[in-house]
Amino acid sequence: MALTLPRDMGDMIERGFDRRLRLAVTGLSRAGKTAFLTSLVNQLRHAGLDARLDLMKTAREGRLLGAQRIEQSDLSIPSFPYDEAIEALSLSPPEWPRPTRGISELCLSIRYRTALPGRALFKAQRTLTLDLVDYPGEWLLDLPLLELDYPQWCERMTRLQGPARRAYAADWLSAVQRLAVDQSVDDRELAELAASYAESLKRARAEGGFSYVQPGRFLLPGDLEGAPVLQFFPLPGIKAEDRARLARLPAGSLYKILERRFEHYKRHVVMPFYRDHFRRFDRQVVLVDVLSALNAGAEVFNDMRMTLGDLMKSFRFGGNGTLRRLFSPRIDRLLICATKADHVTPEQHPKLLALLEQLLDEPIKDLRYLDVPVKALSLASIRATETRTIERNGQRQPVLYGTLLDEPGDQPALIFPGEVPDRLPEEAFWHRQGFSFSAFRPLPHRDALPHIRMDAALDWLLGDKLR
Ligand code: GDP
Repeated sequence: MALTLPRDMGDMIERGFDRRLRLAVTGLSRAGKTAFLTSLVNQLRHAGLDARLDLMKTAREGRLLGAQRIEQSDLSIPSFPYDEAIEALSLSPPEWPRPTRGISELCLSIRYRTALPGRALFKAQRTLTLDLVDYPGEWLLDLPLLELDYPQWCERMTRLQGPARRAYAADWLSAVQRLAVDQSVDDRELAELAASYAESLKRARAEGGFSYVQPGRFLLPGDLEGAPVLQFFPLPGIKAEDRARLARLPAGSLYKILERRFEHYKRHVVMPFYRDHFRRFDRQVVLVDVLSALNAGAEVFNDMRMTLGDLMKSFRFGGNGTLRRLFSPRIDRLLICATKADHVTPEQHPKLLALLEQLLDEPIKDLRYLDVPVKALSLASIRATETRTIERNGQRQPVLYGTLLDEPGDQPALIFPGEVPDRLPEEAFWHRQGFSFSAFRPLPHRDALPHIRMDAALDWLLGDKLR
């Protein structure tokens, strides 16, 4: 009779010997998750050959032997499309890989020599199994829902509506404001209203660049597309203090139906993600596209700041909070990255990092207080520009050399994108915005993908497991 260990127990035994690590990558949509994961796998595949990994100690000491893809451990999660990503980047001209839309996984077996003293050849060879999981950061925005009931959520959502956001939601708002909480509604009407609410969130994200979208699955519904569990919305004007009065409404009233769906969403969509996936992550990378938010102006930038504050709550699971109580997560190390650093010249990189640290100042302080090791970096997963120097008014000035994505003709150009502020911008900054962000086409590549500081990221994420 074959003996099979339950998945968690098998995991635990391997983790006990430090031979297996489950590393999760997240970030809001377009933060650069697909590019990061593609580059991470690519750098490890090319380790010991042509990958440039000087900031990774194991590679610098010549102990990193390479990595192979093996079958992923959770067969119910879609596979991360690494081969498709490399194919897109190898086209002529190269293209960015298509972003992933839900959760996906890929597994690597990494070979290395131990760091024990002695002659290199006699050092023992070991393998570390690395499970890589990519999931949308939007899903983490749903964590606070677990602590809210429906009236509290409605009140919170009403508070969030600034002028720009209200404009995106105008159609939905005027339809929903015509309804009374105690009236009955049919399924079709509800589905239409919910679709209009989801549409307003999608527009706020795509056209306005806003990142605070709740519920998180409304943007990336995956296999829940069209299911009644996603057909609800907040009722404007509801107050948490009206709870008792609202509880007496008939079961078929608009309010009661929406409340039931909200609770169902929490129980059957939000909780399973934390229970089945989040709880099993050992380490976490959070990617932040600071530069795009900076480019989009004050309201979007401040919205991103608030969103990240909420998103990071999922990693603050000390004490007796909901997360620890319900799921006992075990993440023991975090990396926070400002992505796409190749969009600015190298002397701006320290400012980009300083800005990221300011943006996440409060969450990082909380994590340090809870003794969760956390590091912040600026990096480019797949570097799409080179740095050149030009003479201007007798001064030497660094500029970027790259091919703009939306420029016809594919001719490379010299571009100075401007200065990144090293602290949270004040009102005056937005008026004299000296920063302009352009999307670049990836560089043609033959060997390992060009990058900036992916090796530093790898060192922090894996270094202690490769000794
Ligand atoms: P995801 O939605 O988080 O998976 O984001 P992607 O990885 O698909 O990245 C979104 C877009 O950002 C890409 O299509 C690229 O245009 C750009 N991008 C991502 N990473 C980099 C990078 O390292 N350098 C540059 N120049 N652009 C990047």
